[in-house]
Parts: sequence; structure tokens; C-alpha cells
Amino acid sequence: MCTIMGFSKKTLTRQEITPFLERTVSRGPDMSRIIETPSGWLCFQRLAIMGLTEAGMQPFSLDGDMVACNGEIYGFEGWKQALEKKHRIENDPAARTDVMQYMEGMERISSDIMEKVLGQMNSYAYESYTDADVRRALLHDTCTIEDFKALLSPAALPHLEEMAAKAKYETGRHFGNTVYLFTPLYIANYCENYCVYCGFNCYNDISRKKLTMEEIRQEMQVIADSGMEEILILTGESHSMSDIAYIGEACRLAAGYFRNVGLEIYPVNSEDYRYLHACGADYITVFQETYDAVQYEKLHLMGHKRVFPYRFEAQERAILGGMRGVACSALLGLSDFRKDALASALHVWYLQRKYPYVEYSLSCPRLRPIVNNGRIHPQDVQEKQLCQILCAYRIFLPYVGITVSSREQKQFRDGIVKIAATKVSAGVSTGIGDHESKYHGTDEAETGDEQFEISDDRSFADMYRDMAVQGLQPVLNDYIYVS
Ligand code: SF4
Repeated sequence: MCTIMGFSKKTLTRQEITPFLERTVSRGPDMSRIIETPSGWLCFQRLAIMGLTEAGMQPFSLDGDMVACNGEIYGFEGWKQALEKKHRIENDPAARTDVMQYMEGMERISSDIMEKVLGQMNSYAYESYTDADVRRALLHDTCTIEDFKALLSPAALPHLEEMAAKAKYETGRHFGNTVYLFTPLYIANYCENYCVYCGFNCYNDISRKKLTMEEIRQEMQVIADSGMEEILILTGESHSMSDIAYIGEACRLAAGYFRNVGLEIYPVNSEDYRYLHACGADYITVFQETYDAVQYEKLHLMGHKRVFPYRFEAQERAILGGMRGVACSALLGLSDFRKDALASALHVWYLQRKYPYVEYSLSCPRLRPIVNNGRIHPQDVQEKQLCQILCAYRIFLPYVGITVSSREQKQFRDGIVKIAATKVSAGVSTGIGDHESKYHGTDEAETGDEQFEISDDRSFADMYRDMAVQGLQPVLNDYIYVS
């Protein structure tokens, strides 16, 4: 019989626990190991029933998790099956569903926009653009797709100052010196998807929470009391834990507190968008994450989100469902960011031509470190490149709103709102239900984990003041309802 010993604290040192393990040497004499875990120690003395090689030696570890077991983890069949499934879909592409195959119940619409966007993106050879292409693009009054491709290319980096000047001119022409402020409210963090880069994914052992309507009301009251007039409601992507009725009810509540209500939820059919719009939602945001279908397949291993075209068509279904505005974005850093930036903007550009009456916006988040996955350190999209992308967006799509996330540093956000961006979040918390604790200093123990770390944690009041000090006019709402 092997010996398994575990310590959930580090009050004893390795030297102190070793004699205890050695006392059981008669039970598993052929190999012995002590491993330090983040919270204590795991010790194992082997009677080699699982093989005499190193492969049979415990504690086993996978992706930072460690286990020492007596041949089998008894009584945890459910865990075992889930882990087997996880291991299979991670390591065997044949075990995964077809990323282009719609699931039952998913609406199909007649649209060629995806084909056009992917066609442009796949043929985009950004290294082929030259300094002359960039200069020509900057001289044009109207930016063509070819011009935009040049402005996104590495050849445009030395022209960043000219791009910024042109972007600033376009922003001023269409938005004046205004900057819109809003705050996000995460009401649930249950998720049925397995996106390998996200801390909310269904395999990540985080604190899950779903706010009750009373808790949502309290959160909204706190946010509304701060002066905010626009809210973005977010959930993880769980159809069962955050169903449409639940989200609709949250929208009805929000409509009583705010003038403008956005949603960032899982993609749904046009009828559901119609219902949510009737409940008070004005616009939706759906991140495609990456437009590179091959990379998308490797990053979204399970769940509804795995269906690439259904996600791509979410904005169009929302428009068909009557939403006033839609927002598109890639999560820069997941794949080739220049191609993803091109595809995000073209997604808007083609939608704009098909549905000119809709309000469009673009976000530009970069991948951030997440809970329980310290291995993701996207480095390739530096602030300089992000600035280039945002200036190119503004020059190509002069009327489109551009939102800069609190994932970015204060200095960067303060600078870019004077050049290309038109909207910033403030008073941000990516945890579940912790606006009240943050604003009022109450107990934080019951709040769910945060999806990612933010870099700019300015309150609404601080953000409002900082924008005004910089000569910008903070705008909380520009809609007049005449029902
Ligand atoms: S990115 Fe969204 S869908 Fe994917 S695991 Fe995170 S919360 Fe779920």
C-alpha cells in the first residue's frame, strides 16, 4: 500500500515533514517524493502498483494541478469523467465538434458578410505594404479598404504621428470634444464554454455567483447614485444559469435606472434579441475574439461559443431583432492582431453598408492575465501597435464609436480619447456584485471572482473630473426618449 500525505498549510518545513514520511517507508519502499504546492505539501511513498517507471510516480501534475491518489480517486466519478473529457478535447482535435457546424436551435440568416470579411482577412499580406502605400493612404480624403490595410501594416508605424493627427481631425469633425462614460455590471459568471484563455471557463475552479434581482437592483442603485446613465450588463455564457428571462428581467430593472442599456451576453437568435430589446436593451456587444477560424477552433474547445459562424452573425441577428446599436471586437493577442483588427473593422464596414441606420462601435481589448492561468502572457500587441490600430479604425470608420477598455492603463486611455476613442468605462469591477462593496466598503466575501485584471480603476467621479480637466466634455447620455 502506498503512503499519501498532504499538508494544507506551510507551517512545517520540508525538513520537518520528511521524517514523518520516512516512518512509512515499509509501505511503499521503491520511490518517495515530496512536492511543494502553492498552499502546502503533497508527499508520496510508492509501492509500485502503477508501474516501476517515472510515469507511474506520483504526485501527478497537469496544468499546475497536482494529485496523489491511491490508484483511483474514489467517489469522484463525475470529476473523473469531466477531466477525461477535458483531456480528450484538449489533445485530440477529432474529439471536438465542427467549429463551422450550427447547433440545433441556432438561427441561420441569409448573409454573405462573413465570407467577405474572411476573404479579405485571409488574403491580407500586411508585409507587402510599403511606405509609399501609407503616404498615399494618408493623402486620401476617403479611406478605402486598401488604404486601411496599408495603415494597419508595419510600414505605417513610422507614420504614427501623422496618423494620429488625421484621426484626431476625424474624431473632432464627427464627435467634437465629447467622450462617453459608462460602467459595466457583471450579474453572473457561470459559463458553459471552454475558452482556454478565459478565467470564467467551465473548467476553471473559481467562485461562481449569479445575482438575484434584488442584488441587481442594489448594484444598479449604487451605480445610478454615482451619476452614471449608461450601463453595460454582462453575464458569463450559461444558457441555463443566465437564461433569457433572467437577462430580460435585469434589462427591465436597468431601464428604470439608466438611459442607455447595453448587453454583453452569449449570442442568441433574433427573436431573443427582439425580446431583450423590448425589455429595455439598446445595444449589444459580441466579441468574436479572433476572426482566424483555425485559431478559433483551437481556443474555443467546447460549448455554444465553439460555433464560429453563429457568433459572427450575432450582430446581424441583433439588428434584425431591432437593437439600436451593435459593437464588434476581437480580443487582440489571441491571434495575428493585424488580421484581427482588419476583420473587426471590415465586419462593421460591411454591416454599415447593409444596415446604415444602426449605430456601430468597435472595442479594442488586449488579452489580460486571468485567474488560474498564469501562463497566458500575450506580449505582441504593445501600446504603440494598439495606438496604430485605433488611429486606423478612426480614419477608416470616421462615424463609428470606439471604446477603450479599463484593461488599458490610465495614461493610455487619457491620451487616446483625445485622438481616436469616444467612449471609456469608469467605476469598473469585473467581479460579480461588488459595486456595492467597492462603493460602500461593505463585506466582499460573497462576490464572485473577477474575469480579468483591470489596469485603470478610476471611479466614475474621478474619470469625469479627469476628462473635464483635459478639455473634453464627458457625456453620460445623448438619447431623448419620446414615447
Ligand atoms: S470568454 Fe466568455 S464564453 Fe469564454 S469562457 Fe470566458 S465567459 Fe465563458
